[in-house]
Amino acid sequence: MLRRLRGSRPVGATHIAADDKNVIARPSGPGYDGWMHLLVIEDELKLGDYVRKGLTESGFNVDLSRDGSEGLGMALTGNYDAIVLDVMLPGIDGFKVLEVLRKSSSTPVLMLTARDDVADRVKGLESGADDYLAKPFAFSELLARIRALLRRGSLQESTRFALADLQLDLTTRRATRAGKRLDLTAKEFALLSILLRRQGQVLSRALLADQVWDMNFDSETNVVEVAVRRLRAKIDDPFDAKLLHTVRGMGYVLEVRDDDPP
Ligand code: CA
Repeated sequence: MLRRLRGSRPVGATHIAADDKNVIARPSGPGYDGWMHLLVIEDELKLGDYVRKGLTESGFNVDLSRDGSEGLGMALTGNYDAIVLDVMLPGIDGFKVLEVLRKSSSTPVLMLTARDDVADRVKGLESGADDYLAKPFAFSELLARIRALLRRGSLQESTRFALADLQLDLTTRRATRAGKRLDLTAKEFALLSILLRRQGQVLSRALLADQVWDMNFDSETNVVEVAVRRLRAKIDDPFDAKLLHTVRGMGYVLEVRDDDPP
């Protein structure tokens, strides 16, 4: 096992590297330790060492495996931000690693393929690789590809929101609860996305009127109340656990509550 221990670097320490400013920051949250974690699965000794050293110096926390089976085990349990995966590996090859990994993980994967082997590239992309790089490659190219993958990943995160079994995807304009698609109007979708984005916060009618309808709140109009009622009928009424709550005199909040009456 050639893996470096996670704790081998001081948490939150400033790592000095010339281009550290380009390392993409992850939004802070539970388990966030200040580092982007990469897994490199590559059996060629020199290349593996070279890639690990270069990525470490570029500000990443890097684990290295030189074997397909071990690498897959690490990929499944390690919570990595991105994986660099060689195709030709002892144990099981890169395609197999990817195939198993994709059953339970959407971690971005950059595959290393033999030069000009178009079949390998196509196979890699079809098996769920996010990008590929042909050997031999310049380190700067590898770094640029990894950063692009991480950037794509963080963009995806910010367009998808979830609370309990309620999910919303801004890119596909799709909202589901318990896996079932919710048929929402454009305004209801906008209302739900704001409530989900700011889940746990009480949002006033004035704020919702401004953000969703782009209008100044007028207490004579009940447009917010009506929309909330309709939204609630779709996202909550068919389900036991209610998520959209009215806070009397203040507004609305989307959150999980344990004390809901059945
Ligand atoms: Ca290899």
